[in-house]
Amino acid sequence: KHSVWTPENIVRSPFKDVEIPKRTLPEHIWENLERWSDKTALVCGTTNRSITYHQLYKYSKNFAAHLRTNFHITDGDVVCIMMTNTPEYAPAVIGALEAGAEVTTVNPIYTAHEVHKQLLLSNPKVLIGIPESVPILKEAMRLSNRNVPIITCNANNGLPADTVSFEELINDDNINKDVLKQVNKGFEDVILLPYSSGTTGLPKGVELTTKNIISNCVQQDTKEIRHYDDTTSSHQETVVAVMPFYHIYGIAIIMLHKLSVGAKLVTLPRFEPTSFLKTFEDHRISLLCTAPPLVLFLASYPGVTSKHLESVNRIVCGAAPLPKSDIDKVLSKVKQNAKFFQVYGLTETSPLATTFTQDYKKYTTVGFPIPNTELKVVDGDFKNLGPNQVGELLIRGPQVMKGYRNNQEATKNSITEDGWFRSGDLGSIDVDGSVTIADRLKELIKVKGYQVPPAELESILKEHPAVLDAGVIGIPDPRTGERPRAFVVLKDGLKAASKDIEEFVAERVAEYKRIKDVMFLDNLPKNPSGKLLRRVLKEKYC
Ligand code: AMP
Repeated sequence: KHSVWTPENIVRSPFKDVEIPKRTLPEHIWENLERWSDKTALVCGTTNRSITYHQLYKYSKNFAAHLRTNFHITDGDVVCIMMTNTPEYAPAVIGALEAGAEVTTVNPIYTAHEVHKQLLLSNPKVLIGIPESVPILKEAMRLSNRNVPIITCNANNGLPADTVSFEELINDDNINKDVLKQVNKGFEDVILLPYSSGTTGLPKGVELTTKNIISNCVQQDTKEIRHYDDTTSSHQETVVAVMPFYHIYGIAIIMLHKLSVGAKLVTLPRFEPTSFLKTFEDHRISLLCTAPPLVLFLASYPGVTSKHLESVNRIVCGAAPLPKSDIDKVLSKVKQNAKFFQVYGLTETSPLATTFTQDYKKYTTVGFPIPNTELKVVDGDFKNLGPNQVGELLIRGPQVMKGYRNNQEATKNSITEDGWFRSGDLGSIDVDGSVTIADRLKELIKVKGYQVPPAELESILKEHPAVLDAGVIGIPDPRTGERPRAFVVLKDGLKAASKDIEEFVAERVAEYKRIKDVMFLDNLPKNPSGKLLRRVLKEKYC
């Protein structure tokens, strides 16, 4: 290995650069299709409904042609997906991309209040849902004053009124596919639009281009760091897809990347111990892509035995910090030569930035920068720091997003003129290039690995009729990593109990964002220009 530190204190990837192929993402996924055409691409872990690679290709093309012909999708239009993990999620995404659209994904457990905000920001032309999400999508459209067609997937017990059946569209082999020749998207055009609050403020659309996503796929294919074995006639990597596809980890690393290398994805609509463990028996899972709560479950849930995990060759974990003790516990349940990979990244980096190499065992780190990726650590004055000094971690590489949608200011504040993306994480880099994440500089709270932006909860709290001002911070929680704590200032003469406030928030947000911890204050710490000082709240009250 060559030295990874440059004299300017920039850290280069210890791995050889890889070439980024210039093609569309569907072309990239189909590149080796004939090698695994008859193998299963996706199977539902609860119903066993499955799709082969050949069907995936056909369904995606049929769907794309329908989107162009009957839903008038043109290059750059946004298609919004609100579904739990099902096999059909893949042809919905790839079909929309084949049609030249951008895909924005919504958490299937969001309330109409949360969905309507994403509709306002992303302005989709078509919505794709499952029967459970249709009423929420309709209410969200009402709130955002919009009316676009809804396509419903998996409507086995009757198609919801005023929606179109996804299955009918993908099975229509007679649709004329010539319209797809009109699709004309550049390598640097946006294809995915997930939402992230970044370092500050409300959720923003993260513009990820074809180049970003293909780069991150091929960056993961480097031999020393790859998390899978090649698909051959006798071997197919089997991945459990329980991390939600709406999040960048689920859609990019688990769905799009693993489909580009011929893996089998076992989809689960939600995490539930019995069905989750049953997938191990039924499908002989070889690759486990997890986040810390799942590792904690595998490590500590009494029902999880070595027998369940006997087929597992590799465990990958990312999205939030993972205590070493949980890794040790889970490794004591898998076979001896099974490998563990900690990974680190963000929605804004498509998402992978660092990973363990094969057989690397320094569990307190998040590994090394992946190929074509540079890192640096800076102090408060933006001066580059040397080995083992803690500061903000910056990332540069072909996987760094184009920017935040319609938000030049946030983009300018997060990407420097010479292309460095500010992660908002505090970390240090060792002489060998391994990265340790120390803390979060940004205000973001992560509950079970999911984003809970304090600004979002604060704006909801301030909608409460008795609330004058509010501040939210994350406090440590042994089960979920962190949980939000609210500080509330009431309006003069008005009263509200913690319970009222908690319920007010609960009606408007998904379960993991709920506040169960409210403190009343006379005023909030602010700087002279009125900016809330969350650090002071943390130091004073936690
Ligand atoms: P998201 O955009 O939702 O993927 O969130 C990205 C953030 O998750 C990062 O900025 C980190 O704060 C956190 N994160 C992701 N992976 C890790 C990891 N392996 N260890 C610690 N924090 C992580």
